[in-house]
Amino acid sequence: MEKLFLIKYGELNTKKANIGLFLKTLQKNILDALKDIDVKVVFDKGRMYVKTAEDNFLIVKEKLQKIFGIYEIAIGYELETNDFTLLEESLIELLKDKEFKTFKIETKRSDKSYFLTSPLINQKLGGTVLKNIKDVRVDVINPDLHINVEIRKTNAYIYFETIKGLGGYPTSTLGKGLLMLSGGIDSPVAGFLAMKRGVKIECIYFDSPPHTSIEAKNKVLTLANIIGEYQGNIKVHIIPFTKLQEAIYKEVPNEYMITIMRRMMYRISEKIAHKNHCKIIVNGESIGQVASQTLDSMSVINEVVKMPVIRPVACFDKLEIIALAKKIKTYDTSILPYQDCCTIFVPEHPVIYPSLDKCLEYEQNFDYESLINEAIKNEVIIKNNEKQNDYSNYL
Ligand code: ATP
Ligand code: MG
Repeated sequence: MEKLFLIKYGELNTKKANIGLFLKTLQKNILDALKDIDVKVVFDKGRMYVKTAEDNFLIVKEKLQKIFGIYEIAIGYELETNDFTLLEESLIELLKDKEFKTFKIETKRSDKSYFLTSPLINQKLGGTVLKNIKDVRVDVINPDLHINVEIRKTNAYIYFETIKGLGGYPTSTLGKGLLMLSGGIDSPVAGFLAMKRGVKIECIYFDSPPHTSIEAKNKVLTLANIIGEYQGNIKVHIIPFTKLQEAIYKEVPNEYMITIMRRMMYRISEKIAHKNHCKIIVNGESIGQVASQTLDSMSVINEVVKMPVIRPVACFDKLEIIALAKKIKTYDTSILPYQDCCTIFVPEHPVIYPSLDKCLEYEQNFDYESLINEAIKNEVIIKNNEKQNDYSNYL
């Protein structure tokens, strides 16, 4: 008997016509995630199996738990036959080390020509367990031990333990999106949720040195790396935003500064998205959370772009977002106290119901187009784990 991981993909089974593309991407993502570990990955109809040395089980388990598209992971044992007598013997062998008083057997039979039906296998194997293991009984409602058996054409599997996977669609199946990533709590969660729907994420960060610190930027890069683990690698576009921000500070009335600043961020994001074949913009806006996220603000800001803007946390309240941030391990980094460009120029009374006409009027005050082009020209792209220590290449 060989110990191995059985991988199940739940929702993907509903993708009838496109299942091939989804599964191919999942296979690739699993192979990529495990490329540094000595494993054998077997792809079979409806299941994937990962085989590796016992020493690697912990790390493989951790990695599989970070792959979208996997619904459940079971750690089990493979028999290279589906002979019933051998199955009985193997099960008893495995149960010798287990402590339990009650059990339940559940069988799945993908080989429909097998000589016993699933209920009959449950019955017969149940009898074998009762005969061979002392002081145990069947409890189908709340058993100490779930015994799962799968019968396939040429082999069989037994497993006791299942772990929930992340679910969702395999990363990349839906193409790419550009995540506006700030150092806050909301945007990393938004990125994670978009990835869960099969969107591969690249990030964009608006950096305003010297008004924002190197720590603030490194915090964003750390957040990118944390969510990047859920898709294998991640790219961050760092956009020098200082000149635009200073121009806004000088030329725009106080209460409209944030609205105009966000219109600039959206304009740049759309251009960077187009350049990098991203089909959507993703951000961490949540309805009503701050002045720039009222419905009026959102429409005046959104008005500058044509590309769909997806806001995965739009309808979550802060506590729900925080709970998710803790789960995906971005929270502790997000709450580090470095200011980003939004917090530094926050006016005392930002407009809550901005008018589009006023935005257009104030934007006449300065040549934002060339500042946008300059910022894009000077973007710095960071892949994965690189951190930067100085601004010399774009100051
Ligand atoms: P977060 O907690 O994600 O920082 P927030 O509640 O602080 O969000 P805002 O600062 O208004 O809200 O920003 C709203 C969204 O705009 C963010 O979630 C993020 O997607 C994007 N954003 C804000 N600042 C930046 C920045 N400096 N670089 C890139 N994106 C940004
Ligand atoms: Mg923020």
